[in-house]
Amino acid sequence: MRTQVAIIGAGPAGLLLGQLLHKAGIDAVIVERQSVQYVLGRIRAGVLEQVSIDLMDEAGVGERMHRDGLVHGGFDMLFKGQRHRIDLHHLTGKNVMVYGQTEVTHDLMDARQAAGLTTIYEAGNVTVHDFDSATPRVRYEKGGRTHEIECDFIAGCDGFHGVCRASVPRGALQEFEKIYPFGWLGVLSETPPVHHELVYVNSLRGFALCSQRSQTRSRYYLQVPLTDKADAWSDDAFWRELRLRLDPEAGAKLVTGVSIEKSVAPLRSFVTEPMRFGRLFLAGDAAHIVPPTGAKGLNLAASDVKYLSTAFIEFYQEKSHAGIDHYSARCLRRVWRAERFSWWFTGLMHRFPENGEIGQKFQEAELDYLIHSEAASRSVAENYVGLPLDFGE
Ligand SMILES: Cc1cc2nc3c(=O)[nH]c(=O)nc-3n(C[C@H](O)[C@H](O)[C@H](O)COP(=O)(O)OP(=O)(O)OC[C@H]3O[C@@H](n4cnc5c(N)ncnc54)[C@H](O)[C@@H]3O)c2cc1C
Repeated sequence: MRTQVAIIGAGPAGLLLGQLLHKAGIDAVIVERQSVQYVLGRIRAGVLEQVSIDLMDEAGVGERMHRDGLVHGGFDMLFKGQRHRIDLHHLTGKNVMVYGQTEVTHDLMDARQAAGLTTIYEAGNVTVHDFDSATPRVRYEKGGRTHEIECDFIAGCDGFHGVCRASVPRGALQEFEKIYPFGWLGVLSETPPVHHELVYVNSLRGFALCSQRSQTRSRYYLQVPLTDKADAWSDDAFWRELRLRLDPEAGAKLVTGVSIEKSVAPLRSFVTEPMRFGRLFLAGDAAHIVPPTGAKGLNLAASDVKYLSTAFIEFYQEKSHAGIDHYSARCLRRVWRAERFSWWFTGLMHRFPENGEIGQKFQEAELDYLIHSEAASRSVAENYVGLPLDFGE
C-alpha cells in the first residue's frame, strides 16, 4: 500500500489529523492496534478549549458538539469550605466546552467512515522503518499476514506507550519527566452533576474534582495514594469520601449512583524534545503528558495536529519545508506553557504531606491571593481557556 502520510494511532490526535489532511486533499492511512469498540470505550478528557472547538469545526465534525456540548463560562474553586468562581468569560472573553473525548472520537470516526477513508483497526505488531530516509515504511500484521505501507511521512499519534517514540534511536531525543506521588480515582455515573460548572476542591482530605460529560452524566475524581486500586473502592466508599471533601451545599446536592466506570490514573508531567526525527513526527500523548488538573491533554494533542497538518499542507501545496522544519519548536513552546500551568495548578490544589503544615499555609495564601486579585485570576483564566495557536509570534 502507498500513501502520503501514514498515521499511527486512532486516538483524537490521529483521527483529527486524518480529517484535516483529507479536507486538504492529502492522502493518509491510519493504523490502530485496538478495535473501534476499545478506542470508543476509553473514558478520558472532557473539556475543550476554543482552539480545539475551532479545529473540530475546521475538520467539518463540529455539528453534534455544538448541539450537545455544554458551554462553560467559568469554574468554581473550593478551599477552606468557601467557593469562589473564576469567571473565564469576564476575564478572557472566552469559554470552554464540556464535550467528552469519546464523543470527539465518535464524530471523527463517523466522518472518516462516511468519506470512505482507510483505517486499519486491530493491526498487530506495528513497526516503523526508514524514517531517516525519503521513503519511510510502516509494517503491521493482520489476518495472519504482514502488510507494508510506503509513505512520505509518518505521524506518531500513538499515545504515551506507542511504538513511534520508542523507535527513535536512543540519544536522539531528550526526555523530561516528573511523576507525582498520588493518582486520581475517577468515577463516571449516570447522575446529574452537583453543579452546572466544574468545581475544583482543595480540602484537608485531598483534592477532588466535580466534572461532567452532560446534564445527566457526571465525572468525579478523588486524589488517592498511587497504591490504591479502583476495585478496592466500593461506590459507597467513593461517594462518602467525595462528600467529605465538598462544602455542605454541594454535599447536600450530590446525587449518587452506580459507577459506570471506575479507574485510577497516575499523574505525570512528561515532554520529549524534539518532536520530530527525520520524517517521523510525534503528536499528542506520544510526545508529552500533563497531569489532568489543567484539562490540557486532549487540547495539546489538537494543537500539535493543527501545526502538523499545516506543515504537511505547506509541503504538498507550496513545496515549502518551513512548516516541517519549525514543527517541533512551534509545538514545544505551547507544550511547555501548558506543562507549566498543569504542574502549577496540580501543586496548588493537591495535598502534599511531605511539604508539612507550612506547605499547606503557602497554598492557602496563594489561593487567597488568586481569588482576591483580578490580575492573578486573569492569569489562571488565560491559561485555562488556552493560548491561541499563534501566541507571541
Ligand atoms: C485515564 C485518563 C484520564 C484522562 N483525563 C483527562 C482529562 O480529564 N482531561 C484532559 O485534558 N486529558 C485527560 N487525559 C489525557 C487525554 O485523554 C490525552 O491527552 C489524549 O487522549 C491524547 O490523545 P492522543 O490521540 O495523543 O493519544 P491517545 O488517546 O492515547 O491515542 C493513541 C492511540 O494510539 C494507539 N496505539 C498505541 N500504540 C500503538 C501501536 N503500537 N500501534 C498502533 N496504534 C497504537 C492507541 O490504542 C490509541 O488509540 C486523560 C488520560 C487518561 C489515560
